Amino acid sequence: MDKTMESDVTTAAPATSDDAIALQAEDVTINYGEVTAVDRLSLTVKRGEFVALLGPSGCGKTTMLRAIAGLNQLTSGRLTIAGRTMADERVHVPPEKRPLNMVFQSYAIWPHMSVRDNVGYGVRGQGVRGKKLRERVDETLAAVGLLHYADRYGTELSGGQQQRVAVARALATRPYLMLYDEPLSNLDAGLREKIREQIVDLHHRFDTTTIYVTHDQAEALSMADRVVLMNGGRIEQQSDPRSLYHEPESEFAARFVGSINAFPANVVAAGPGFAEVELLGQPGRTLRLAGASQIPQRRGVTGQAVIRPEYFEVSLGPSADEQNVFVGEVTRAAFLGSRIQCVVAAGAVDLEVEVSGLREIREGDIVSLRVDPAKVIWLDEEP
Ligand code: ATP
Repeated sequence: MDKTMESDVTTAAPATSDDAIALQAEDVTINYGEVTAVDRLSLTVKRGEFVALLGPSGCGKTTMLRAIAGLNQLTSGRLTIAGRTMADERVHVPPEKRPLNMVFQSYAIWPHMSVRDNVGYGVRGQGVRGKKLRERVDETLAAVGLLHYADRYGTELSGGQQQRVAVARALATRPYLMLYDEPLSNLDAGLREKIREQIVDLHHRFDTTTIYVTHDQAEALSMADRVVLMNGGRIEQQSDPRSLYHEPESEFAARFVGSINAFPANVVAAGPGFAEVELLGQPGRTLRLAGASQIPQRRGVTGQAVIRPEYFEVSLGPSADEQNVFVGEVTRAAFLGSRIQCVVAAGAVDLEVEVSGLREIREGDIVSLRVDPAKVIWLDEEP
């Protein structure tokens, strides 16, 4: 299908006003021949929510988003939007009949039309004309900060401006559901950050429900109310951004979102609200866990103790304490302005450690790294 046409998915009124649930996917599977791109995925999105579908390349996020838009057929399962069945094994409501609109990675605005005509195109398709059409277009263009570019042509705009026109064009129809497929990937870092904020503002201002596909963890964490992390066509974990980062439920989740130090370990003591684990291959080296959301319950269990680089409290020089303290030499200290990324050789392991850029930490320094028992993440061995 032509990309330009794809982005003109227009809207229709929701079937019901009882729309606390905007989207429901039940056991959705999508195969491309032998490849299962989406594998029995179930997802509920509430009205007004901003949900990010995050995951590595090939995990099925775009396939799922396109199925919601009606651009992909389901192999099995059911998709409901605002209480109406949009797709199942027999039904397939075409994109233009779904109450949604979509923004793609490619800007896909029409170069031969003015910005105003681009943004007004879908609104005209809804039968809006005259003063009302102009007001709707102006309000939307003002919201993306492009009102004074209304008479320019697509070819006379920068990439960032073109993508904002594409966002305005999609939002001008006031869709019930907004879908974004990696819309910022082609833009430079500074611009990405600015448009990110704008998209979240627009989500609130126009009281819409948003599903946003990205492989960029910073984008997902900073924009979404809930992040749905996908892996191999399935949902690995879905949580608010803070919980996903601080309470990952699997090694995949812990590694995909942020950096980690992971220690295979064995539980040597466990009691109410605490546990002590011995790091494998480092006899006598133990870590205490207490106060975190996941604590191993039984002695003898194996798994991984995980510590994020910035969880360490770093002090210069050796330490008299042994509990939850690593002592080692800084072998690398990369100054990145706001922070310093270090590698600390502590006995048998090289630890990734991150400190504020204001600290005076240099290669060759001996440092003590303390970790709060509440900050050690425990992951049971995966079955
Ligand atoms: P990316 O971030 O790289 O876009 P993604 O998570 O969006 O990745 P999808 O594009 O949904 O992943 O692809 C999921 C799987 O389906 C991949 O294995 C991909 O190769 C396969 N796939 C996608 N589109 C097709 C197609 N048209 N025909 C056959 N296989 C496809």
